[in-house]
Amino acid sequence: MIDLTAYPRCPLGHFPTPLELMPNLTRHLGGPNIYIKRDDCTGLATGGNKTRKLEFLVAAAIAEGADVLITSGALQSNHVRQTIAAAARVGVHSKVLIQQRVNAPTIDYKYSGNVMLNGLMGGEIAAQLPAGSNMDEALDTLAMDLRRAGRKPFVIPGGGSIPLGVMGYVSCAQELIEQSSKAGFLIDHVVHATGSGGTQAGLVIGMREGGNDARVFGVSVGATAVEQERRVWSLVQETLDYMRLPEPTVDRRDVVASSDYVGDGYGMPSAAMVEAVRLVAETEGILLDPVYSGKAMAGLIDLVRKGRLRRDDNVVFIHTGGTVGLFAYRQVFDPVMHQSHS
Ligand SMILES: *Cc1c(COP(=O)(O)O)cnc(C)c1O
Repeated sequence: MIDLTAYPRCPLGHFPTPLELMPNLTRHLGGPNIYIKRDDCTGLATGGNKTRKLEFLVAAAIAEGADVLITSGALQSNHVRQTIAAAARVGVHSKVLIQQRVNAPTIDYKYSGNVMLNGLMGGEIAAQLPAGSNMDEALDTLAMDLRRAGRKPFVIPGGGSIPLGVMGYVSCAQELIEQSSKAGFLIDHVVHATGSGGTQAGLVIGMREGGNDARVFGVSVGATAVEQERRVWSLVQETLDYMRLPEPTVDRRDVVASSDYVGDGYGMPSAAMVEAVRLVAETEGILLDPVYSGKAMAGLIDLVRKGRLRRDDNVVFIHTGGTVGLFAYRQVFDPVMHQSHS
């Protein structure tokens, strides 16, 4: 087991998050036991997976004496929202670069959900850049400008997916191992949404180095499976180097991603996502999100229906948050505009 206590951590969330069975969804699908890890309940301004990453990233920023956190993301980025909240919490400023990633955004997409909360918490949008812009370069330029103006910026790349952030999900894997062993079951599969890759990299490292051989399955929300596995594997290696683990057991084959549930692209609704969000809401009273966890759950449902998971398997779905994004996609779920067929 990796000792994370060696790394400074800024308390920002409510941990451990609950691990619960979803009895009704399990019964409805008639497949494996489906558990849910409630990382949507981290408590930081409606929560989500970036909170764990930010505990390590913000601790590093404070140690460096930073006075402003800068980061980037899509207009409805949950990462941007949680970074702005973390900055407010520790009393520093935040500036963000927004990248246009969704075509023809609705009024709800432009102003509701995360966007509304960002304004409420005093987050400042430094610039909006077109799709395809090099956001890492743009962040470096912004940091230089701020330094020239006498500020002390700390750069958090989009999604917080650098080794410090990845450690947040090593901690999640450690929690999972402890919670499942206390509850008396072995985890066969972990399923979750994968984007900038830090969540999956951390889960894979944390499970393997914790002596657990559950299979981690990342459901891509944008990239092809090949690109996504490459991205996650390179983050795994960077993080192992950073932590200087003597003899890591994690292997390239531990990194498995699928792009079967992306649909028309990042942030674009799919019929399977809408079905998954509705089904989990109606059976469990749990709210997923349209961009990440909804597509990941669509993947899990499809695997169950195709018989790819055994009936006695224990599957843990990581709810990575993003629920407020539902408001930005209100029309997609509007029962008048999109008649349900049941
Ligand atoms: C960022 C995000 C993810 C993806 O996590 P990565 O570490 O970027 O792969 C999944 N779900 C939600 C809700 C997110 O905001």
